[in-house]
Amino acid sequence: MKFDVAIVGAGPAGLAAAYKLASAGFKVVVLERGREPGSKELYGGRIYAYWLDRYLPEFRKDAPVDRWVRRERVTFLTEDKALTLESAVVQKEKTSFIVPLVSFVSWLAKLAQGAGAKIVTEVTVDALVKDEKGRVVGVQSGPDVLQADYVIDAEGVNRLLLERAGIVKKLEPELVAVGVKEVLKFENKKTLEERLGLEEDEGLAWAIAGYPTEYLPGGGFIYTYKDSLALGVVVYLKNWERLKTPVYELVEKLRLHPYIAPLVKGAALQEYGGHMTPVAGINMSPPRFYYDGLLIVGDAAGFLLHTGVLIRGVDFAIASGVLAAEAVKEARSPSAEDLSVYEKKLRSSFILPQLEKFRKADKLLGDESLFRDLTLFSTEASYRYFNIDENHRTLLEALREASKKTGVSMLKIMINIIRMVRSL
Ligand SMILES: Cc1cc2nc3c(=O)[nH]c(=O)nc-3n(C[C@H](O)[C@H](O)[C@H](O)COP(=O)(O)OP(=O)(O)OC[C@H]3O[C@@H](n4cnc5c(N)ncnc54)[C@H](O)[C@@H]3O)c2cc1C
Repeated sequence: MKFDVAIVGAGPAGLAAAYKLASAGFKVVVLERGREPGSKELYGGRIYAYWLDRYLPEFRKDAPVDRWVRRERVTFLTEDKALTLESAVVQKEKTSFIVPLVSFVSWLAKLAQGAGAKIVTEVTVDALVKDEKGRVVGVQSGPDVLQADYVIDAEGVNRLLLERAGIVKKLEPELVAVGVKEVLKFENKKTLEERLGLEEDEGLAWAIAGYPTEYLPGGGFIYTYKDSLALGVVVYLKNWERLKTPVYELVEKLRLHPYIAPLVKGAALQEYGGHMTPVAGINMSPPRFYYDGLLIVGDAAGFLLHTGVLIRGVDFAIASGVLAAEAVKEARSPSAEDLSVYEKKLRSSFILPQLEKFRKADKLLGDESLFRDLTLFSTEASYRYFNIDENHRTLLEALREASKKTGVSMLKIMINIIRMVRSL
């Protein structure tokens, strides 16, 4: 059986491409190894809406949304101290929303199917099939070969197919992080809102540095769904073996931390899972995003932005899927030359310019001392400033004492703040 386009992976990137191509009359098949679209995926919880309005405006009509984010929290956390910053908007902003990825992906899958795309689940693609000239002409799963004029690789971060095709090298541990998360369900949504200090239906995105990763690069996160929340930890794979606590236990430790425990007391564990994420972003992209017969989208292409307080991949995935679909529609043939229009589209969209802008973030965020120094210093200094005893300290005295106690020089803190201001 031959299709116009075969897409590997029913994640946001693959399904967005499938929807747009099927809507334009192409015969499209999506191959997904999971039991259903979204079943193999895991993310933090928030999707940025700005670029969806440009690339998938349909989402405003009927996509599932649990809560619109109106509060952003960042906490530096140690064993016994915390310093929290919060940015809140009072008006009913609709710039990013929280929803389980599986719900959003299911909605996208229905949209693609409604447009005529065929989604086949529980099929693992083992290899890209090439002809004698090296052009990708289909995909192989076990003994079966499925032919297609165009193949879109939306396989996500592991990108084993690209590795087997000789397009990328094996993933190096410094390029990726592992995220582990729990979903904790509250008796009702009111309890969640009262505990987290939220108005009705208000969403919270919360990044936590220091303690969750034993002060190594990475961090913890909390996102509030309707009547549950996601609590997780992201750790660089390169540091995996240096952790004293296994990654899956880090989440439990964070849940039991005295600063977090009262907030989630009584909430029942509903789900648990882990997934890799391409934190190096564009620094781990394949040499090109188009080849003869092949386009690469989403995480597989390294289209992910990580700034320490957020991981942003879903809107990149959807936009790149839409642009790949446009490239296929415009190409006169599946030759790399004709498909090079995809890269031009990536450059004139937000995707490559924004990823280029944050290119240096990856190196800074992988720096061992950054989060440790900032967390230890800032929590100690704020504690000394607010804790009034016989010596009511000035801010400068509090900073000096914190520097002495933690061994972190104020100069180093200033240098790190300047580096962050420049790169993040
Ligand atoms: C812990 C964590 C937190 C995150 N938080 C956020 C967040 O809050 N907001 C945000 O925007 N992004 C977040 N991300 C990133 C986001 O999840 C990804 O960027 C996004 O899902 C990428 O979409 P994709 O379609 O490219 O790949 P994926 O969503 O990974 O989809 C790939 C699909 O391909 C399938 N597949 C893979 N190989 C094969 C094969 N050989 N054959 C058949 N099927 C295959 C997989 O089963 C999967 O369904 C987070 C990621 C992690 C790990």
